Amino acid sequence: MELRRDPITQSWVIQQTTEVSWAKSGVCPLCPGNEFLCPPNLYVYPYGERSWQVRVIPHRNPVYQIEGDPARQAQGIYDKMRNLGAHEVVIEHPEHALRYAQLSDDHAAQTLRAYVARITDLKKDLRFRYVTLFRNVGKEAGQELEHPHSEITATPFIPRRVAYELRATERHYETKERCLFCDIVRQELDQHERAVEWNDLFLAFCPFASRVPYETWVIPIYHHFSFEEDVTSPDKQIQLARLLKSTLRRLSTVAKAYHLVLHTSPNVNARPQRPGAWRTLAEDYHWHFEILPIIPAKSKSYSFKEVYFNSLPPPEAAAKELRDVGIAET
Ligand SMILES: [Zn+2]
Ligand SMILES: [Zn+2]
Ligand SMILES: [Zn+2]
Repeated sequence: MELRRDPITQSWVIQQTTEVSWAKSGVCPLCPGNEFLCPPNLYVYPYGERSWQVRVIPHRNPVYQIEGDPARQAQGIYDKMRNLGAHEVVIEHPEHALRYAQLSDDHAAQTLRAYVARITDLKKDLRFRYVTLFRNVGKEAGQELEHPHSEITATPFIPRRVAYELRATERHYETKERCLFCDIVRQELDQHERAVEWNDLFLAFCPFASRVPYETWVIPIYHHFSFEEDVTSPDKQIQLARLLKSTLRRLSTVAKAYHLVLHTSPNVNARPQRPGAWRTLAEDYHWHFEILPIIPAKSKSYSFKEVYFNSLPPPEAAAKELRDVGIAET
Protein backbone atom coordinates (compact mmCIF):
# COMPACT_ATOMS: atom_id res chain seq x y z
CA MET A 1 0.00 0.00 0.00
CA GLU A 2 1.13 3.54 -0.64
CA LEU A 3 -0.16 7.06 -0.24
CA ARG A 4 -0.67 9.22 -3.31
CA ARG A 5 -1.51 12.90 -3.35
CA ASP A 6 -4.18 14.26 -5.68
CA PRO A 7 -2.29 17.21 -7.24
CA ILE A 8 -5.50 19.22 -7.67
CA THR A 9 -7.24 18.87 -4.29
CA GLN A 10 -4.01 18.14 -2.37
CA SER A 11 -5.71 15.29 -0.55
CA TRP A 12 -3.91 12.03 0.16
CA VAL A 13 -5.46 8.82 -1.13
CA ILE A 14 -4.48 5.43 0.19
CA GLN A 15 -3.85 3.03 -2.66
CA GLN A 16 -4.56 -0.54 -1.64
CA THR A 17 -2.41 -3.16 -3.32
CA THR A 18 -3.43 -6.34 -1.52
CA GLU A 19 -6.68 -7.66 -0.07
CA VAL A 20 -6.87 -7.16 3.72
CA SER A 21 -9.19 -8.79 6.21
CA TRP A 22 -9.31 -10.47 9.62
CA ALA A 23 -9.59 -14.22 9.92
CA LYS A 24 -12.59 -15.58 8.10
CA SER A 25 -12.79 -18.64 10.34
CA GLY A 26 -16.12 -17.63 11.89
CA VAL A 27 -14.47 -17.12 15.28
CA CYS A 28 -14.64 -13.57 16.62
CA PRO A 29 -11.03 -12.53 17.38
CA LEU A 30 -12.27 -9.72 19.65
CA CYS A 31 -14.31 -11.90 22.02
CA PRO A 32 -12.84 -12.78 25.47
CA GLY A 33 -10.96 -16.07 25.28
CA ASN A 34 -9.67 -15.35 21.76
CA GLU A 35 -7.00 -12.85 22.79
CA PHE A 36 -4.38 -15.25 21.39
CA LEU A 37 -5.72 -14.47 17.90
CA CYS A 38 -4.85 -10.81 18.37
CA PRO A 39 -1.63 -8.79 18.60
CA PRO A 40 -0.66 -7.83 22.21
CA ASN A 41 -2.62 -5.09 24.04
CA LEU A 42 -1.66 -1.44 23.68
CA TYR A 43 -4.15 -0.50 26.40
CA VAL A 44 -6.29 -2.53 28.75
CA TYR A 45 -8.79 -1.64 31.44
CA PRO A 46 -8.79 -2.72 34.20
CA TYR A 47 -5.02 -2.87 34.08
CA GLY A 48 -3.49 -6.31 34.47
CA GLU A 49 -6.81 -8.09 34.72
CA ARG A 50 -7.85 -11.08 32.70
CA SER A 51 -11.43 -9.85 32.75
CA TRP A 52 -10.87 -6.71 30.68
CA GLN A 53 -13.66 -4.23 30.02
CA VAL A 54 -12.04 -2.14 27.28
CA ARG A 55 -8.85 -2.92 25.41
CA VAL A 56 -6.91 -1.55 22.45
CA ILE A 57 -4.80 -3.64 20.09
CA PRO A 58 -2.96 -3.00 16.83
CA HIS A 59 -5.09 -3.84 13.79
CA ARG A 60 -4.08 -7.26 12.52
CA ASN A 61 -4.13 -6.20 8.89
CA PRO A 62 -3.30 -2.52 9.24
CA VAL A 63 -3.89 -0.03 6.46
CA TYR A 64 -0.81 1.76 7.84
CA GLN A 65 2.58 0.47 8.99
CA ILE A 66 4.22 1.91 12.08
CA GLU A 67 7.93 1.40 11.25
CA GLY A 68 10.20 3.68 9.24
CA ASP A 69 9.87 7.15 7.83
CA PRO A 70 7.34 8.46 5.32
CA ALA A 71 9.86 8.27 2.41
CA ARG A 72 8.21 11.19 0.67
CA GLN A 73 9.07 11.10 -3.01
CA ALA A 74 8.13 12.78 -6.24
CA GLN A 75 7.12 11.02 -9.42
CA GLY A 76 7.12 13.77 -12.03
CA ILE A 77 4.54 16.24 -10.77
CA TYR A 78 3.04 13.65 -8.44
CA ASP A 79 3.81 13.10 -4.74
CA LYS A 80 3.70 9.79 -2.99
CA MET A 81 4.87 8.31 0.29
CA ARG A 82 4.87 5.06 2.19
CA ASN A 83 1.77 4.11 4.15
CA LEU A 84 3.50 5.08 7.38
CA GLY A 85 1.10 5.29 10.29
CA ALA A 86 -0.63 3.42 13.06
CA HIS A 87 -3.90 1.51 12.88
CA GLU A 88 -5.49 0.35 16.13
CA VAL A 89 -8.73 -1.29 17.22
CA VAL A 90 -10.56 -0.18 20.37
CA ILE A 91 -12.59 -3.12 21.65
CA GLU A 92 -15.37 -1.30 23.46
CA HIS A 93 -16.91 -4.13 25.47
CA PRO A 94 -16.26 -7.84 26.08
CA GLU A 95 -19.81 -8.73 25.02
CA HIS A 96 -20.15 -9.47 21.31
CA ALA A 97 -23.65 -8.16 20.61
CA LEU A 98 -23.69 -4.97 22.65
CA ARG A 99 -23.79 -1.57 20.91
CA TYR A 100 -22.33 1.68 22.24
CA ALA A 101 -25.79 3.11 22.97
CA GLN A 102 -26.50 0.09 25.20
CA LEU A 103 -23.39 0.40 27.37
CA SER A 104 -23.75 1.71 30.93
CA ASP A 105 -22.76 5.37 31.35
CA ASP A 106 -19.65 4.28 33.25
CA HIS A 107 -18.60 1.83 30.59
CA ALA A 108 -19.25 4.29 27.75
CA ALA A 109 -17.13 6.85 29.65
CA GLN A 110 -14.40 4.25 30.08
CA THR A 111 -14.31 3.86 26.30
CA LEU A 112 -13.78 7.63 25.96
CA ARG A 113 -10.92 7.32 28.47
CA ALA A 114 -9.29 4.72 26.21
CA TYR A 115 -9.62 7.12 23.23
CA VAL A 116 -7.95 9.91 25.25
CA ALA A 117 -5.08 7.62 26.32
CA ARG A 118 -4.36 6.25 22.84
CA ILE A 119 -4.66 9.59 20.99
CA THR A 120 -2.35 11.24 23.55
CA ASP A 121 0.18 8.43 23.20
CA LEU A 122 0.14 8.44 19.38
CA LYS A 123 0.62 12.21 19.30
CA LYS A 124 3.98 11.75 21.03
CA ASP A 125 5.22 10.30 17.75
CA LEU A 126 6.40 13.38 15.87
CA ARG A 127 6.11 11.62 12.49
CA PHE A 128 2.32 11.76 12.81
CA ARG A 129 0.47 14.94 11.92
CA TYR A 130 -2.98 13.67 12.80
CA VAL A 131 -4.77 10.98 14.82
CA THR A 132 -8.26 9.96 13.67
CA LEU A 133 -10.78 8.12 15.82
CA PHE A 134 -13.75 6.63 13.98
CA ARG A 135 -16.43 3.98 14.33
CA ASN A 136 -18.21 2.30 11.41
CA VAL A 137 -21.40 0.52 12.39
CA GLY A 138 -23.34 -1.70 10.00
CA LYS A 139 -22.45 -3.47 6.78
CA GLU A 140 -23.34 -0.40 4.71
CA ALA A 141 -20.72 1.52 6.72
CA GLY A 142 -18.07 -1.09 5.94
CA GLN A 143 -18.01 -2.56 9.47
CA GLU A 144 -15.44 -5.34 9.26
CA LEU A 145 -15.94 -7.15 12.56
CA GLU A 146 -19.29 -7.48 14.30
CA HIS A 147 -17.85 -7.08 17.80
CA PRO A 148 -18.37 -3.51 19.15
CA HIS A 149 -15.23 -1.57 18.32
CA SER A 150 -13.87 1.65 16.96
CA GLU A 151 -10.63 2.33 15.11
CA ILE A 152 -7.78 4.78 15.49
CA THR A 153 -5.38 5.74 12.73
CA ALA A 154 -2.35 8.00 12.99
CA THR A 155 -1.08 9.50 9.72
CA PRO A 156 1.80 11.67 8.47
CA PHE A 157 -0.81 14.01 6.91
CA ILE A 158 -3.99 15.79 8.03
CA PRO A 159 -7.12 14.30 6.44
CA ARG A 160 -8.71 16.61 3.89
CA ARG A 161 -11.93 17.49 5.71
CA VAL A 162 -10.09 18.38 8.92
CA ALA A 163 -7.56 20.41 6.90
CA TYR A 164 -10.48 22.38 5.39
CA GLU A 165 -11.94 22.99 8.84
CA LEU A 166 -8.59 24.15 10.22
CA ARG A 167 -8.18 26.60 7.34
CA ALA A 168 -11.72 27.95 7.71
CA THR A 169 -11.58 28.34 11.49
CA GLU A 170 -8.17 30.05 11.32
CA ARG A 171 -9.49 32.52 8.76
CA HIS A 172 -12.64 33.19 10.82
CA TYR A 173 -10.50 33.86 13.86
CA GLU A 174 -8.19 36.14 11.91
CA THR A 175 -11.02 38.43 10.86
CA LYS A 176 -13.40 38.15 13.84
CA GLU A 177 -11.18 37.03 16.71
CA ARG A 178 -13.82 34.45 17.59
CA CYS A 179 -14.05 30.68 17.23
CA LEU A 180 -16.29 29.72 14.30
CA PHE A 181 -17.63 26.64 16.11
CA CYS A 182 -18.44 28.68 19.26
CA ASP A 183 -20.45 31.04 17.00
CA ILE A 184 -22.31 28.05 15.52
CA VAL A 185 -23.02 26.54 18.96
CA ARG A 186 -24.37 29.87 20.24
CA GLN A 187 -26.68 30.29 17.27
CA GLU A 188 -27.97 26.69 17.42
CA LEU A 189 -28.70 27.04 21.15
CA ASP A 190 -30.48 30.39 20.56
CA GLN A 191 -32.59 29.21 17.64
CA HIS A 192 -33.36 25.67 18.80
CA GLU A 193 -34.21 24.83 15.20
CA ARG A 194 -31.52 22.23 14.56
CA ALA A 195 -30.61 21.39 18.17
CA VAL A 196 -31.47 17.78 19.05
CA GLU A 197 -30.40 17.48 22.68
CA TRP A 198 -28.02 19.15 25.12
CA ASN A 199 -26.81 19.04 28.69
CA ASP A 200 -24.68 21.43 30.76
CA LEU A 201 -21.57 20.74 28.71
CA PHE A 202 -22.44 19.29 25.31
CA LEU A 203 -24.83 19.87 22.40
CA ALA A 204 -26.08 17.50 19.68
CA PHE A 205 -27.44 19.23 16.57
CA CYS A 206 -28.04 18.71 12.84
CA PRO A 207 -25.63 20.98 10.95
CA PHE A 208 -27.12 23.75 8.75
CA ALA A 209 -25.64 22.31 5.53
CA SER A 210 -25.99 18.61 6.36
CA ARG A 211 -24.29 16.32 3.83
CA VAL A 212 -26.61 13.38 4.51
CA PRO A 213 -30.08 13.11 6.09
CA TYR A 214 -29.94 13.17 9.92
CA GLU A 215 -26.26 14.13 10.01
CA THR A 216 -25.61 15.04 13.66
CA TRP A 217 -22.66 16.64 15.43
CA VAL A 218 -21.88 16.40 19.14
CA ILE A 219 -19.84 19.34 20.38
CA PRO A 220 -18.84 20.97 23.69
CA ILE A 221 -20.87 24.11 24.45
CA TYR A 222 -17.72 25.72 25.96
CA HIS A 223 -14.59 26.31 23.88
CA HIS A 224 -11.80 23.73 23.62
CA PHE A 225 -9.60 22.81 20.65
CA SER A 226 -8.43 19.35 21.70
CA PHE A 227 -10.60 16.38 22.71
CA GLU A 228 -7.71 14.47 24.31
CA GLU A 229 -6.57 17.45 26.40
CA ASP A 230 -10.13 18.39 27.33
CA VAL A 231 -12.08 15.22 28.13
CA THR A 232 -9.93 14.08 31.03
CA SER A 233 -12.23 14.48 34.05
CA PRO A 234 -14.72 11.74 34.99
CA ASP A 235 -17.55 14.30 35.04
CA LYS A 236 -16.94 15.41 31.43
CA GLN A 237 -16.46 11.82 30.30
CA ILE A 238 -19.79 10.75 31.81
CA GLN A 239 -21.71 13.74 30.44
CA LEU A 240 -20.26 13.24 26.96
CA ALA A 241 -20.89 9.49 27.07
CA ARG A 242 -24.53 10.11 28.04
CA LEU A 243 -25.14 12.55 25.20
CA LEU A 244 -23.37 10.32 22.65
CA LYS A 245 -25.45 7.35 23.78
CA SER A 246 -28.78 9.11 23.60
CA THR A 247 -27.91 10.70 20.24
CA LEU A 248 -27.05 7.26 18.84
CA ARG A 249 -30.30 5.86 20.28
CA ARG A 250 -32.26 8.60 18.50
CA LEU A 251 -30.40 7.97 15.25
CA SER A 252 -30.97 4.22 15.49
CA THR A 253 -34.68 4.89 14.88
CA VAL A 254 -33.88 6.21 11.38
CA ALA A 255 -30.75 4.28 10.37
CA LYS A 256 -29.06 1.05 11.43
CA ALA A 257 -25.68 1.99 9.98
CA TYR A 258 -23.52 5.04 10.59
CA HIS A 259 -20.03 6.51 10.45
CA LEU A 260 -18.83 8.40 13.53
CA VAL A 261 -15.64 10.42 13.42
CA LEU A 262 -13.85 12.63 15.93
CA HIS A 263 -12.41 15.92 14.73
CA THR A 264 -9.76 17.16 17.13
CA SER A 265 -6.61 19.28 17.02
CA PRO A 266 -3.73 18.08 14.80
CA ASN A 267 -0.38 17.12 16.28
CA VAL A 268 1.20 20.55 16.75
CA ASN A 269 4.59 18.99 17.56
CA ALA A 270 4.88 16.95 14.33
CA ARG A 271 8.10 17.54 12.36
CA PRO A 272 8.90 19.25 10.09
CA GLN A 273 6.71 22.23 10.89
CA ARG A 274 6.28 25.64 9.23
CA PRO A 275 7.39 28.36 11.67
CA GLY A 276 4.35 30.14 13.09
CA ALA A 277 1.98 27.31 12.18
CA TRP A 278 -0.86 26.71 14.67
CA ARG A 279 -0.24 30.10 16.32
CA THR A 280 -3.95 30.59 17.09
CA LEU A 281 -5.03 26.92 17.03
CA ALA A 282 -5.98 26.77 20.73
CA GLU A 283 -8.34 29.73 20.21
CA ASP A 284 -9.62 29.05 16.70
CA TYR A 285 -10.32 25.28 16.57
CA HIS A 286 -13.05 23.42 18.49
CA TRP A 287 -13.22 19.62 18.74
CA HIS A 288 -16.42 17.70 17.91
CA PHE A 289 -17.85 14.38 16.79
CA GLU A 290 -19.59 14.05 13.40
CA ILE A 291 -22.11 11.25 12.94
CA LEU A 292 -23.20 10.37 9.40
CA PRO A 293 -26.11 7.91 9.37
CA ILE A 294 -26.44 5.72 6.30
CA ILE A 295 -29.89 5.45 4.86
CA PRO A 296 -29.53 2.94 2.00
CA ALA A 297 -32.44 4.23 -0.11
CA LYS A 298 -30.95 7.70 0.05
CA SER A 299 -27.33 6.87 -0.53
CA LYS A 300 -27.14 9.20 -3.55
CA SER A 301 -25.43 11.71 -1.26
CA TYR A 302 -22.49 9.32 -0.83
CA SER A 303 -21.83 8.55 -4.48
CA PHE A 304 -22.21 12.13 -5.71
CA LYS A 305 -19.22 13.75 -4.07
CA GLU A 306 -18.74 16.90 -6.15
CA VAL A 307 -21.54 18.84 -4.52
CA TYR A 308 -23.13 17.12 -1.56
CA PHE A 309 -26.72 16.40 -2.35
CA ASN A 310 -28.73 16.01 0.82
CA SER A 311 -32.09 14.35 0.25
CA LEU A 312 -35.06 14.92 2.53
CA PRO A 313 -35.56 15.65 5.35
CA PRO A 314 -33.75 18.99 5.69
CA PRO A 315 -31.73 19.40 8.92
CA GLU A 316 -34.47 21.43 10.69
CA ALA A 317 -37.05 18.68 10.16
CA ALA A 318 -34.46 15.98 10.94
CA ALA A 319 -33.59 17.65 14.25
CA LYS A 320 -37.27 17.93 15.18
CA GLU A 321 -37.85 14.26 14.40
CA LEU A 322 -34.80 13.21 16.43
CA ARG A 323 -35.84 15.46 19.35
CA ASP A 324 -39.28 13.89 19.41
CA VAL A 325 -38.05 10.29 19.38
CA GLY A 326 -39.07 8.53 22.58
CA ILE A 327 -35.84 6.94 23.78
CA ALA A 328 -35.72 4.54 26.64
CA GLU A 329 -33.14 5.25 29.33
CA THR A 330 -30.57 2.49 29.77
ZN1 LIG B 1 -16.87 -10.92 19.52
ZN1 LIG C 1 -14.91 27.34 20.13
ZN1 LIG D 1 -15.63 18.44 11.74
